[in-house]
Order: sequence, then structure tokens, then C-alpha cells
Amino acid sequence: MAAPLITKAVSVRWARAHDYIPPGAKYQACPAGPGDAKEAKRLRIAIAGAGMAGSYLYRLLKEVGEEIALYDVVERTGCGQRPCAWGVAPAGEYRRLVGRFLDPERYIKQRSDQILFDGVRMGADLLMVDKPALIRDMIGGAPVRYDRLDPGEYDLVVDATGVERAYLGPVAADDMVAELCQYRLASDRDLGTWFQTSRSGYGWCFPLGNGEYHVGYGNLPPHVGEGSETIDATVAGSKIKCTCRSRIRLSSPYHSMPLVRGNIVGVGESIGTVGPLGGDGNLYAMQCAEMLSENLHGLETYQEEVLRTFDWMRRERAAVTRMLAGRRPTPGDIKVFVEHSRRAGFSMNPVQALKLLTKAGGV
Ligand SMILES: Cc1cc2nc3c(=O)[nH]c(=O)nc-3n(C[C@H](O)[C@H](O)[C@H](O)COP(=O)(O)OP(=O)(O)OC[C@H]3O[C@@H](n4cnc5c(N)ncnc54)[C@H](O)[C@@H]3O)c2cc1C
Repeated sequence: MAAPLITKAVSVRWARAHDYIPPGAKYQACPAGPGDAKEAKRLRIAIAGAGMAGSYLYRLLKEVGEEIALYDVVERTGCGQRPCAWGVAPAGEYRRLVGRFLDPERYIKQRSDQILFDGVRMGADLLMVDKPALIRDMIGGAPVRYDRLDPGEYDLVVDATGVERAYLGPVAADDMVAELCQYRLASDRDLGTWFQTSRSGYGWCFPLGNGEYHVGYGNLPPHVGEGSETIDATVAGSKIKCTCRSRIRLSSPYHSMPLVRGNIVGVGESIGTVGPLGGDGNLYAMQCAEMLSENLHGLETYQEEVLRTFDWMRRERAAVTRMLAGRRPTPGDIKVFVEHSRRAGFSMNPVQALKLLTKAGGV
């Protein structure tokens, strides 16, 4: 049995005042130890999911001497990891996060300082990294358990299972999950670096160096599988090295409630830390893990910080939803896209953002 925890109601009044609670969704009270981590009783912690968020959190907590059990399930993809194009941007934030305990340069496979965004060329600060090697080194040879985790055996269970939310359970309302298909290709031609939107999803081509590329597309239901013509043409002229399929949560943390349930707390994509337009979640998963490591004994502060830091995802999701419904982009929608692209190191201007949004919405 888990030791009794000090259960502290979250500051619902604060959250409501900041409009951070979706109507009808319950903002969970959460288990929290004493505020000062040094005085706190050592918690028995398990992390479910050794992906980007789980392995980064594992390493952060290990560095400060916490004992943690790490669980995962066997992946049947070619690289042994959850499907991902391995892109990270901006490079500076990648270097800061990984540089806390590893040499970030070691994992860089390719840099792209330009990208074709819906056919418009713009400056980029994009790196493609060897994500399986990075995750392996963050875990650092520690044993990973593949048996079923019993939450009753731990004081705190971190749900880092990504889109599965295997321990937190389903999102209370308004989950937004797209279905994705990706190829790893080898080609003699330069396929470039591009990202394109369609009426119900997006496609991408990210170079991995040595003539290899991750190329894929994804759509929201009920349009799954639509708009893959460009991808099919690219794939047809190349050698397929492997293929994978997956889902991605584009909901935003605001629409991924609850973030905490009983002694279970979510981190990374399980609680929606993914850009709703670009499907970028690698660095946000690590940032979210960093927030949890700093607030392990104050989960209400963690929830507040997640909702505040990633509030732009709520606004971007609202813009995407409006566009998909065929509505014209508002000046606020354009602002939120420009801000996100700048945050990710792309030099998108408002005119380009307007073009992109108009195309995405098909208006
Ligand atoms: C096809 C595709 C391409 C993408 N490309 C990019 C990109 O180029 N750049 C970018 O920034 N983002 C990209 N993303 C998004 C990014 O991969 C994710 O947002 C990010 O990996 C989220 O990290 P996470 O650790 O929260 O979840 P994940 O990386 O999904 O990790 C979840 C972990 O939980 C494990 N797990 C699942 N179920 C269980 C269970 N029951 N028990 C224990 N463990 C379990 C999984 O095996 C996995 O190890 C892409 C996503 C997809 C699907």
C-alpha cells in the first residue's frame, strides 16, 4: 500500500480567475509532499513511459539522487521508439535542455536553416537528432521494467505514456487526436526540408543526413488518410527503410484534463504538451518534465505552471479549430501562429501566417 499522502486542494480560485479550467472539466486536487524538497520524505516514484518526457525526467531526478522505477512497453517500430520525425527547434533550447547532463552535439544528425512551409521558403533553426540514442543515454543503462506497474505500490506515479495516457485515463472532454503515418526513406535526390498543411492535417519531410529522410502525414478524424498525394509521390521515388503509424494528441494541456488523478501525475504528451498546428512535442515534453522535477513536492504549482507556460497551445488549438471549420483567421489567430513559429526559430511573418491559416482552413 502507498504511504498516506498529504492531499492538498489545488488553488481552484486562482485557476478560475485565470480562465484555466475548461467548463465542465474537473481541476484535480493532488497529492503533494511538504513544499521544501530537502525536508520532504523521500517519495517512492515510478515513471511509466521511457520516451522523451519520461527519460528526461528520470535523468533529472537521478541527478538529485531520487530512486525511481522506470517502466515501458516494447515498441515494435524499426528504431524501437515511438514514431517521431526527430526534429527539434530552436537549437538553443535543445542545447540547454540536453546540455544539463549530456553533450547535445553528439546526437545531431542534420541541421536545416531553411524550410519550405506550404511552399513558402523561410529561415529555420531546426535540428534532426538521433532520438533513440538520446533517450538511451538519458536512461544511462538503468533497468527498464516491462511488467505492469501497480500504482498502489508507489507514492507517486508519473504518467509519461504519451498519447496512451495509460495511467491517467481518458481526457475528460475535447481530446483532439490525429492519426499519423511515417516512412524512413533513402533517396539519391535531395528531397529538401518541408512542412505542409492540408484541410484536415499536415505532412512533413525532415532530412536525417546520409541521404535518409523522415517523411509522413497525419489527419484528424474523420479525414484519416486524406491528402497524402505529395507524400505518396515522394515515397514512390525512394527506397523505404521502415514505416510506422501512430497517433498524436493535439489537444493542449488546457483540454487534457485531468493533469493529476489520485497519486498519478501526467507529463509531456499525456497532458497535451504538443503544438496543435505543427505537431511538435519533443522539446515541450522535456520542458514539462523539467517543471515537474522542480515541483515534485508541489503538484498544484506544477499544474499552474504547465497551464500558464503552454497556454499558447490552447489559443493555437482554438485557431486551428476555427480554421478547420472554414472560418476566416482572426488577427488573434495570426498573432498566435507568428508567436509559435518565432518561439520555434522559424522566421514567419504575419502575411505568411495569414496564407498558411487560410490554406489550412480552405477559406
Ligand atoms: C509520426 C510522428 C512524428 C513526430 N515528429 C515530431 C518532430 O519531428 N518533432 C517534434 O518535436 N515532435 C514530433 N512528434 C511529437 C513527439 O514525438 C511527441 O510529442 C513526444 O515524443 C512526446 O514525448 P512523451 O515522452 O510525452 O511521449 P512519447 O515520446 O510518445 O513516449 C511515451 C512512452 O510511453 C511508453 N508507453 C506507452 N504505453 C505505455 C504503458 N502502458 N506503460 C508504460 N509505458 C508505456 C511508450 O513506449 C513510450 O516510450 C511526432 C509525433 C509523431 C507521432
